Amino acid sequence: MTFSLTREEKHANSNLRSKSPGASVGIFGSCKFQRTSLFTILLLLLILLTPFHPLLAGDPFEEKRQTMVERDLKGRGIKDPRVLEAMGRVFRHLFVGESKREQAYGDYPLPIAEGQTISQPYVVALMTEAVTLKPTDRVLEIGTGSGYQAAVLAEIVKEVYTIEIRKPLAETASKRLTQLGYKNVRTKYGDGYFGWEEVAPFDAILITAATNHIPPPLLQQLNEGGRLILPLGSTTFHQTLTLITKEKGDLRVQEMGGVIFVPLVGEGEKKR
Ligand code: SAH
Repeated sequence: MTFSLTREEKHANSNLRSKSPGASVGIFGSCKFQRTSLFTILLLLLILLTPFHPLLAGDPFEEKRQTMVERDLKGRGIKDPRVLEAMGRVFRHLFVGESKREQAYGDYPLPIAEGQTISQPYVVALMTEAVTLKPTDRVLEIGTGSGYQAAVLAEIVKEVYTIEIRKPLAETASKRLTQLGYKNVRTKYGDGYFGWEEVAPFDAILITAATNHIPPPLLQQLNEGGRLILPLGSTTFHQTLTLITKEKGDLRVQEMGGVIFVPLVGEGEKKR
C-alpha cells in the first residue's frame, strides 16, 4: 500500500524537519500533524480489526478449500489445471445449508434440500476433467441440484446450461448462481431427459443423476467430437461412471469406475 502526502502535509513535515535539533515538538504540536497522526491511528485500527469483522474478513474457508484441492483432487490424480483452479475458486460452502458449511470441503457428498445430494468434490473434478473442456465450449448439465457443478463449469467454459426437475432446487440454485455473479449460466426447471433443444448442440454434457440408459435426445444434442459423461447402471444401487465420445457418428465408450448417484427421475425413470 502506498500513500502520497498532500502539499500541506509535505509542508508541515518540512516545517517539523527544519526545527532546530533542540526544539521539542509535541505529538499534537501542529494541527496538520495531528490530522496525519489521527489518520494513521485510524488506519492501523482498521487493519488490526479487519480480520474480526465478518464482512471484511474475506473467505474463512480459503485454507480448507486449498487443502481439498491439494489432498483430495491433486492427491488422487486430478491434473487439469483449469479444473484445479476452478475448484480452488468456487465457494462450495455457499452451495450447502448453513449447518453443513464446516463440512463443505470434506471429500464426501452432502445432503441438500429435497432429499438430494451435492456430489463429493473428487467426483465433480473427475467428471469435469473427463469431458476435456475448452474455454470456448458450451456445456449442458442435467441435475442442477445445488448449482455447484454448474459454477465449476462456468469458471472454465463460455456458456453453461443446466436443467433441474425439482422446482425448489431449480429456483434456489438459479438465485444463488446469480447472486454469486455467474452471468454465463442459464438454469431451467424441467426434465433434463429431453435436453435443451433451443440452445443445442453442446460440446459436452454432464448427467449428474443415475440412469440405466443414455437418454437419446442428449446424444442427438451432442456435437460431433462432443463428450457426454454419466453414472450409468442401476438407479437404486451403484453405477459406472461412463464417458461417451461422439466420433464421426459413432460412439466411443470408456468406463471410469464405480460411483453412487441419486436417480434420474421423470421420463428416464419410466424407461427403467
Ligand atoms: N450436480 C448437482 C448434484 C446433482 S444431484 C450439484 O452440483 O449439486 C442430482 C440432481 O438431479 C437432483 O437435484 C435431482 O433433482 C436432479 N434430477 C433428477 N432427475 C432429473 C431430470 N430428469 N432432469 C433434471 N434433473 C433431474
